[in-house]
Amino acid sequence: MRYLPAARVSIFVFAILSSQSGAVSATRFFAGAAPQGAHSTQAPPSGRSPQQGDSETNGRDTGTAQYTLSHERYQKAVAYSRVAYVLYFVDAFLGIAAAWLFLRLGIAAKFRDIAENVSANRWVQGLVFVPLLVFAIQLCTLPVTLYGHALSLRYEQSIQGWGSWFLDWAKYEVLIVAFAIAIVLLLDLAMRRSPRRWWLYFWLAALPIITVLTFSTPLVIDPLFHHFEPLAKQYPDLTASIEKLTQRAGVPIPQERIFLMDASAKTNQVNAYATGLGASKRVVIWDTTIKKLLPDETLFIVSHELGHYVLGHVFQAILFSAVVLLVAMYLLFRGLHWALDRWAADWKIYGANDWAALAVLLLLANIFSFVGDPVTNGFSRSQEHRADIYGLELIHGLIPNSEEVAARAFQDLGEMDLSDPNPPAFFTFWLYSHPPLADRLVFAHSYDPWSRGEAPRYVK
Ligand SMILES: [Zn+2]
Repeated sequence: MRYLPAARVSIFVFAILSSQSGAVSATRFFAGAAPQGAHSTQAPPSGRSPQQGDSETNGRDTGTAQYTLSHERYQKAVAYSRVAYVLYFVDAFLGIAAAWLFLRLGIAAKFRDIAENVSANRWVQGLVFVPLLVFAIQLCTLPVTLYGHALSLRYEQSIQGWGSWFLDWAKYEVLIVAFAIAIVLLLDLAMRRSPRRWWLYFWLAALPIITVLTFSTPLVIDPLFHHFEPLAKQYPDLTASIEKLTQRAGVPIPQERIFLMDASAKTNQVNAYATGLGASKRVVIWDTTIKKLLPDETLFIVSHELGHYVLGHVFQAILFSAVVLLVAMYLLFRGLHWALDRWAADWKIYGANDWAALAVLLLLANIFSFVGDPVTNGFSRSQEHRADIYGLELIHGLIPNSEEVAARAFQDLGEMDLSDPNPPAFFTFWLYSHPPLADRLVFAHSYDPWSRGEAPRYVK
């Protein structure tokens, strides 16, 4: 139930610019390579603190009315989540600080000199400059990335050994650098053609790029990190149950669009997601979910993803991203000139067309991306809430005691993924892509328009 892709896809082009690894990661891009912990929206944490300790499962009568953890699990969930929050901010700060230092210390200007010495050809210079800059910034945030993975190993969330992890990390770096080169060459072209409107032209060019990336991510990029196969291959019964659900909703989703991911090779966490666009649109279930949850609970989690699928959340997120990106591009344009007017001489930058000016854009993009997180996450949380409603309505009447089943699914998911039982409101606001898990559980447990004679919102 975690990340649906595109919420951050926007920021994708943006993140590429800013080379803030995390931004893309949280989404889906590299679930595997993702430096867990760091920029993570990762485990959808949760809220509201039950009186900690006791109540190993839940009260008999009310069923699973609240998210409750054993004393040991509670301590772990809180400790793990809090470190993850700190890592998120440290990571963002490092990205910003590194870009600024590169300017201040003349390192960006040095990279430019190197690139210009290699060739007089502008494209070749870009091929030299961009990897230098991107990789240097990535190295600055690498300690946080490493620490994040060490942490997820210590808390037994990840089970991925360092060798495999580094391989994923390397693949991800190659992708980032390749995308960054493509994006920067495009940006450079736009900037030279139109010094005053490049931000608009670049944005126009970014729209099809975002669309193609969203379309191709499940086909090309995800398989670099995980193995996928149609769910029906190993779980024909579950697939049949899912088909029944989708038929009931009047929106039949073909079997070929439900996939199984071998998450258990790398993680203990339980999850699922919806991704893709058009012909690549699909729901993906982590094998850990099927292995660790009860079949009915898995069905609820799948129903939530079907909500994303049916309600077109990926497409909506692309539209949202496009708007965010337009604003961001304009601010980058204004910010670049504002900064150059003041510090160009200090930073040894000749003008907007100097390669080193890209480091200024990077600095600004890092800042905007950080400041924009609450906006993007707020949007994502609202989609997640709607997907929860859809999921609850879909299983109602089909699975006995469906509200309890859903609440139980949240409970189990929270326990296994160490969801924070009591996240401070500020962190929820800033970096939660999902509503706090405890809130979702309470909502699920009490959602009942039927008994009040009200019409359900999505599934009639
Ligand atoms: Zn979701």
